Amino acid sequence: MTRGERDKVDAGTGSGHVPSGPALTRNGTNLGRVGGYNRAVILDAIRRQDGVSRVELAEQTGLTNQTVSNIVRRLLDDGLVTESGRTPSRGGKPRTALRVRSDACYSVGLHLDPTMSVTVLVDLAGRIVARRRRPRRAPGSDPARLVRGLVPGVTALVADAGVDRSRVIGLGVAVPGPLDTSHGLVVEPPNFLNWHQVALRDALAEGTGLPVVLDNDATAAAIGERWAGGAAREGSFLFIYLGAGIGGGIVHADQVLRGDTGNAGEFGHITVVPDGIPCRCGARGCLEAYCTPAALVAELVHRHGRRAATRIGLTLRPETIRNDCVRLCRAARDGDPAAADVLDRGADRIAQAALTAVNLLDLGRIVLGVDALGPAADMLRDAIDRRVNSQAIARRIRTVAVEPSLLGADAGAVGAASLVLHGRYSPGWSQLRA
Ligand SMILES: [Zn+2]
Repeated sequence: MTRGERDKVDAGTGSGHVPSGPALTRNGTNLGRVGGYNRAVILDAIRRQDGVSRVELAEQTGLTNQTVSNIVRRLLDDGLVTESGRTPSRGGKPRTALRVRSDACYSVGLHLDPTMSVTVLVDLAGRIVARRRRPRRAPGSDPARLVRGLVPGVTALVADAGVDRSRVIGLGVAVPGPLDTSHGLVVEPPNFLNWHQVALRDALAEGTGLPVVLDNDATAAAIGERWAGGAAREGSFLFIYLGAGIGGGIVHADQVLRGDTGNAGEFGHITVVPDGIPCRCGARGCLEAYCTPAALVAELVHRHGRRAATRIGLTLRPETIRNDCVRLCRAARDGDPAAADVLDRGADRIAQAALTAVNLLDLGRIVLGVDALGPAADMLRDAIDRRVNSQAIARRIRTVAVEPSLLGADAGAVGAASLVLHGRYSPGWSQLRA
């Protein structure tokens, strides 16, 4: 399905689906002293559409024509939006189309993962302008040294892209949780040896001279999907990240769900087997104890023996576990019975956790980000789709869409960059409070 077709489904005009999520755009308010919020509502609506008129903005947001005109004039003066072309006529005369000026500002996103660091420069429209990908040779190295090594990469990325440094408004950093977001600390991420309460936010702010925002990698990826995905990511969705660990990021009714400490969305620690095998978090039977690359490979050996592993070509060495998992998924896809059995069981557990999330949060969409499980992505999507659309409480009212990530391997880094843009330019309580 193309983006356009998906939008039609979302608007309730195609394929008999019930529209998922609320109407296209959030309502503004005509009360006084909320100008910042209304401005963000209008900018967000313009950003998410390919050309929209003032009259359409007024219809979509519930703001008066006069308020919309005033806000648009200020956005034009500030260089954040531009008038270009005409919107299609609907009986009346064509109207001037408004679009965001993608080069109005930029932000840098950095995704730190146990094996890799990815840095991107993203424009106001959510497009990647430049990208750097660096393997991390020593995951156990001293955090201070690692941070010192990251700073020149950020500076060089901006310089090489030829972007005016004054237009770069900040650096977003996505790391595995748990985090202490109010103090900017990375607490004790899995597979990051020697990382205990590392003050990553302040160290990077000092090194780069940019304002720095820190967030959980799956939450950042969900924000990136929302920011880059336009109408295809309206409403409520769960972003599931299946990597070295299992993470979840939640956008609920167009708002990011963070919880009281910024650690909401720990999808990997939903119980899928009561009194099951121990998880690194201290509980038993968590999804993550069964469905990480290491857990899937271990389950193959446990259920089908080393012979099956040898037949599929697995090394069974911890340092090449990611490649082993890719091979396992390929073998399952190609019909190896042992591999298919393990992947079927894994997919079933992921689907079970997804059903819990859908029922708890009334989600209209599940977005799947896969790393080592890439070759099994279609199978996983089918398993989740079958489960949530046959068993969720609200199944007769609407269909839950299950879709691949729009951002793929860059989801974490683009999401990190979006943290900065989203924080400054998306409608939310921060503007109302301000
Ligand atoms: Zn756990």
